Amino acid sequence: MVLDSNSLSKFGFIERGPKDFINIDPLQTGGKLTPEAQKALKEWGDGYSICDFCPGSLDIIKQPPIKDFIHEALPEFLGVDGARITNGAREAKFAVMHSIANEGDCVVVDGLAHYSSIVAAQRARLNIESVEHNGNPDYYIDPEAYGRAIEKVISESGKPPALALLTYPDGNYGNLPDAKKIASICHEYDVPLLLNCAYSAGRMPINAKEIGADFISVSGHKSMASSGPIGIVGVNGDYVDTVFRKSPTHPVKEIEFLGCTARGATIMTMIASFPAVVERIKHWDEEVANARWFSEKLEGLGLIQVGDKPHNHDLMFFEAPVFYEISQKVKKGRYFLYKELKARRIHGIKAGLTKYFKLSTFGVDKEDLSYIVDSFEEIIDKYQDKF
Ligand SMILES: *Cc1c(COP(=O)(O)O)cnc(C)c1O
Repeated sequence: MVLDSNSLSKFGFIERGPKDFINIDPLQTGGKLTPEAQKALKEWGDGYSICDFCPGSLDIIKQPPIKDFIHEALPEFLGVDGARITNGAREAKFAVMHSIANEGDCVVVDGLAHYSSIVAAQRARLNIESVEHNGNPDYYIDPEAYGRAIEKVISESGKPPALALLTYPDGNYGNLPDAKKIASICHEYDVPLLLNCAYSAGRMPINAKEIGADFISVSGHKSMASSGPIGIVGVNGDYVDTVFRKSPTHPVKEIEFLGCTARGATIMTMIASFPAVVERIKHWDEEVANARWFSEKLEGLGLIQVGDKPHNHDLMFFEAPVFYEISQKVKKGRYFLYKELKARRIHGIKAGLTKYFKLSTFGVDKEDLSYIVDSFEEIIDKYQDKF
C-alpha cells in the first residue's frame, strides 16, 4: 500500500454506523458509557494522561484518585482483599493462572467456559480438565461434577489441579451455577477457585468472599460501563502476595502486570462510571424481573429459552424454530431477521442467525422491551401470512 492522500483518505475520523438503536447485544448492553464516562473519555484521551503524578506504579497514583479506587473502592465492591486493573477479564484470568500454577499443572474448567479461559490456560502452559454440564435444554452444572473432575486429575496426574474456574454466568446461556457450593467442594481438595465474573460484576451484586472464591475476573468494557480494554483481577487471602509479587530488580513494579496496565482513558472511564455502577447493581432484581418477563413473552411467540428457567440473568439464549422455518422459505434467507430488526431500529442479534441466538435485556427499559416483543410478533405475522 502506498501511503498517499488517496489511500489515506479512508482513515481519519470514522463515524460509527447506526446510532441510537435499541441495543440487545449481550456484549454491549453492560458496557455502554455513562454520560460521565463519555466526558472522561475525551478529557483523559491523550496517551499516558494519568501519569502526571505517578510514583512508579499505577495502583498508587493519588491524583487522579486511582489509589483509593483500586485499594479501597474495588476491594469493598467485589469482596476481595486486593484488586488490580488489567486490560480485560482474560488478562485477569491469565495473571492468576500464570502466577499460581506451574507449567504442566492442571486447571479444572466448567464445560461452558469462555474461549478466553481456555486460551489463558494454554498461554500459561497448563492442562485443562473440563467439568461436564447436562446439555440441552438446561446446560446445568452439578457442583458435585467439580469434585469428580478434581478426583480425575488427582488419579491421572498424582496431584490436585492448581486451580478451578467457574464461569459466572457463562457467556452463552446466562446460567448462574451454585458457586458457593462449588467453592466449598474445591476447598475440600485445597483447590482455589477463580470466579469469572465478566458478565456479572458491575451488573449484579458480587461478593467473592461471601461466595468463597479465591479470585475473581471482571470485564470493564462488558459489565462496568467502561471504554475498554479494561478489567479487574480480585484476589483473596495469601494469594495476594503471589499474584501481586514485585520485580526483584524493579521493586515498585508488579511482574504479573508488566509493571503497568491501563495507562490512560480506560481506567478514567471506569472511575467515571463507578458511582452509577454501584447504584445500578442495587436494581438487579428489576433486571431479572424484566428478563423473565421478556423470556415469557418470546416463549408465547413460539421461541424457546434454554438454560436456567426461570432465568436469573439478563443474558438469554433462545431457540427460534419459527424464524428458522421462515428463513428456509424467504428470498433473503437467513438474513431476513437481521434486516427486519434493523428496519425497526433494533440491534444486537447477529446477522444471519435465526435458528438460535442470544440477547441481553440489561438496561433496556420495559417500554423498549415491549417494543421488541411487538416487533418479533409483527415479523412472524408478516411472513407466516405469506406461506
Ligand atoms: C466477554 C467474556 C470474557 C472476555 O472478557 P474480556 O474483558 O474482553 O477479556 C471472558 N469470559 C466471559 C464469560 C465472557 O463473556
